[in-house]
Order: sequence, then structure tokens, then C-alpha cells
Amino acid sequence: MLVLVINCGSSSLKYQLLDMKKEKLIAKGLVERIGIEGSVITHELAETDDKYVLETPMTNHKEAIQHVMDALLSPDHGALKSLDEINAVGHRVVHAGEKYANSVIINDSVVDALKECIDLAPLHNPPNLDGIKACRELIPGVPMVAVFDTAFHQTMRPEAYLYAIPYEAYEDYGIRKYGFHGTSHKYMAKEAAEMLNIDVNDLKLITCHLGNGASVSAIKHGRSIDTSMGLTPLEGLVMGTRCGDLDPTIVSMLAEKMEIGHEEVIEVLNKKSGVLGISGISSDFRDLEKAMNDGNKRAELALKIFARKVRFYIGAYIAEMNGVDALVFTGGIGENDAYMRNLICSNMGNLGIKLDKHKNQARGIQAMLSTDDSPVKVMVIPANEELVIARETSELVKKSRDTSHKNS
Ligand code: ADP
Repeated sequence: MLVLVINCGSSSLKYQLLDMKKEKLIAKGLVERIGIEGSVITHELAETDDKYVLETPMTNHKEAIQHVMDALLSPDHGALKSLDEINAVGHRVVHAGEKYANSVIINDSVVDALKECIDLAPLHNPPNLDGIKACRELIPGVPMVAVFDTAFHQTMRPEAYLYAIPYEAYEDYGIRKYGFHGTSHKYMAKEAAEMLNIDVNDLKLITCHLGNGASVSAIKHGRSIDTSMGLTPLEGLVMGTRCGDLDPTIVSMLAEKMEIGHEEVIEVLNKKSGVLGISGISSDFRDLEKAMNDGNKRAELALKIFARKVRFYIGAYIAEMNGVDALVFTGGIGENDAYMRNLICSNMGNLGIKLDKHKNQARGIQAMLSTDDSPVKVMVIPANEELVIARETSELVKKSRDTSHKNS
């Protein structure tokens, strides 16, 4: 089964074409600057290192997806003879509110439900919906699946997801913790169980997705019981440019002192805060570690604050689950940054976490990082969001085909 995975951002779109018989990547690419000057598509075939780059105006996601289809069909650098070869499309969708706890086959009522969630994810759900609409127009009849960032965390109990504000805010406006990076946390749990050769239903895991956006989850017996992101991906850890947990009074105080509206304050907290805000240098951990090694104290402080917050959540989740069997790292930082992993895991021996300094040098591969006698295993599992989306898509489409065969 050939599955096209589409991940639409507000001005960008990532795609991958995968052959799910062998779980093999065939082609992938990125469209950037959709709707702004300088739109560009970069397309590559998995078997060659060649990149095909085309700069051409693309005013909306439909035009962008048309260029993706053209690239996939190109006799020079394409992978398909006809679009009929695409058996299914998997769309990453950020927010499903409380509506879906699993991926779903997209139909009109799913589209309507996602429109209802726009309030909860005004930056993310509209481009996701644009991508779905464009595919429905360009390749009508091809089954499509929505895979949600929030779905995996729908197993949280009210004591984990409710904020201590008037209950009506939850009932009337849906204000609660939803959590994000769900496909990534779910994938880490599954792969960790396989690596440990223990049934996921017998494990207590803490999964750390540390990239530009970062979140930690407590996964007990295969179910997410708590996660650090909240109503939006702004809550929780300190991130590249996002503030994470704050005293809410800071919002009104910043508005007053900076003489800006509350929406601009949220913009500051999303884009100018985090390790960028503290260091004043960069949101990229490579830049910060270089600056720290050159003696920059604020860069060092930003890294310490980041690590402290991850440790804080690890400690909280060990308490919440009454123990942990394994700690898992993924994301650009989690997969590559041995210095940060060491900073996070240092001085947690009493909690059973013992990192092996040599094994911790692993980069971008699936590996065990803890010492052989560490009661808590520490591991790195590279993220593969597109593969998870393609797996869920092919499984659901096969299931719905089987059901319709049975019923006919
Ligand atoms: P996104 O949330 O945008 O998907 P990624 O998971 O790609 O983010 O992570 C990006 C971050 O990973 C970069 O900002 C950088 O800080 C960090 N990173 C990537 N490679 C390294 C490395 N070799 N050493 C330290 N940090 C790295």
C-alpha cells in the first residue's frame, strides 16, 4: 500500500510517500513560504541524494499540494506514473479536542468536528484543514486518515487534565489540558517496550520529546496518564522560544509594562521566550553550548534552566506513577545532544537513573544509554512521526476495506 503523509503548517508543508508493505520511504519533500513571496518546493527521492528545488509562486495549500503531486509524477525526479497509485493519504492534525482518542477516516463529519476545534488551535487546525480540503479536491476518492497530536493523551484522567479554575471554564469552553506530540510519545512507548522485550502493558515509562517544541509524558501500562503541554503547546517545559509554565499574572503584567495587548504577550511567550529569551542568543542548543563553552553565562543559565525543568517533570512523573522502568529521549535535542541528556540525568542515582557516559555519546540511533546496573533504563529512540502516521493510515484503511467487504 502506498501512503502519502501530509503535514501542513501555516506556511509550510512536509510530505513523505511510503510503501507500507516494506515500511520503505520512497520520496519526501518540503514546501516552504506558502502564501508569501519566494515559495519553494524541495523534493527528493529516497534512493538518490539528489534534491529537486523549484521556486515558484504558491498562494495557498492547494497550489502547494498540486506542486507536490507534479513532483511525484515527474518523469525525471518523480516516483509515480499516475496518482491512482496512491492508496491512502495520512494527515497530521494538531487538535481534536475531546472528540477523538484515535485516528479516524476523514469524512464530512470529521471535517466539521475539526472546524469546531479551530478555537483551541487557531494557528494549527486551519492549515491542517486546508491540506485535507486540497487533497479531497485533487485526488477525490482516495481514502484519507487524520492522525491527531492530542489523541494519545485522551486517556488522562480529570485529575490530570483539569485546571484549578472555575469548572464552568471546562464545561463551557473546553479549557483543560489536552497535551501534544501524541504520535511521538506513543511511538516511543511502543519501541521502548520492543527494545526492552517487555509488554508495554507491564511498563511505567517517562518519554521526553525534546525538540524546538518539547514535552514529557508519563505512560503507565501503555496509556498516557499525564503530559507537560496543556491547553496549547505553550505550557510545560522551557522550550526553544516558548516559556513553558508561568504564573498567569505575568501575562497581564507584561501587557501593562510593555504596553501591548494580550495577544502580543502570547506572541512574546511563544516566540521570544524559552532558552532564546533567557540567553538572548539563540533557540538552537548547538549555538547555546558553543556560547557556553566560550564563556557566555546566560547561555549556560538557559541550558541549566531547561535541564532543571525536564528533571522537575521526570521527578513529578516518578511520583505520579510510583516508579519508572525506563526514561526515553527523542527529538532534535533528545536524539543528538549528549551534553543535555547528561545534564538532565545527572544526580538522579537515588531515583535509579544511572547514565553511562560512554553509551550516552550515541547520536541519532536507537540505543540504550544507561549503565548495565541502572535500575531505570535510559534510552534514545529517534522520532519517526511520518512512519507512525503512515502505519495508522494503512491500518485504518485496511480495516475499513475489510469491514465494507464483509458487509457487501
Ligand atoms: P522541531 O520541534 O522543530 O521538530 P527538532 O526535533 O528538529 O525540532 O529539534 C530541533 C532542535 O534540536 C534544534 O533547535 C537544536 O536545538 C537541537 N539539535 C539538533 N541537533 C543537535 C545537536 N547535534 N546538538 C544539540 N542540539 C541539537
